[in-house]
Amino acid sequence: MSERPPQTDIPVFSPRLDEVLGMMIAGEAPNAGRFCGYCYTPMSKTADSCPYCKHDVSTTGTLEKLPPEVIALYRRWRKRESLVVNSFAFGGLFLAVLIFIGLVAYAVYRMEASLWMLSFATLFMLVGGRVFAGIFGGWIGDNVGYEYAHKKLVLEWQEFDQLRSSGGAPSSTDGAPSATAPAAGAQ
Ligand SMILES: [Zn+2]
Repeated sequence: MSERPPQTDIPVFSPRLDEVLGMMIAGEAPNAGRFCGYCYTPMSKTADSCPYCKHDVSTTGTLEKLPPEVIALYRRWRKRESLVVNSFAFGGLFLAVLIFIGLVAYAVYRMEASLWMLSFATLFMLVGGRVFAGIFGGWIGDNVGYEYAHKKLVLEWQEFDQLRSSGGAPSSTDGAPSATAPAAGAQ
């Protein structure tokens, strides 16, 4: 599994926006500032193009507040990621429990309930549970969760981008008859 984030041709949550949204959701930052009108990356007051997506302010404009849809998108992204991480952590814990049961069974049936073996099993459960949960959740789960959540995010962003562009420029083709009459040939 590569450490490199998947390449996408669309801007999805720049590192700076990620940071700011994280603080906003934690209540450490207000939803106010100057944001890129295209990718929502926070911009300095004087910048005339986005430092992330490079769009010009004159074409995409800026926002003073992040739209609720963008915040919702971010929340779902983060939630998915942590759901995967937590599931893997529980998987690691579960594996430690299975090994513990195996060790206890071995101590009881093969070692005449050896106190040493039972103690070892308990110690393994206490330490191994933490270690396994850490490895499964923090390492494997983190990688898998990142990939999965990012893929979903890209799809949702594309959907949002389509909605945004169709909402931003309302089309007046509603109910317009498709007039494809051939050019009237005047005799
Ligand atoms: Zn931008």
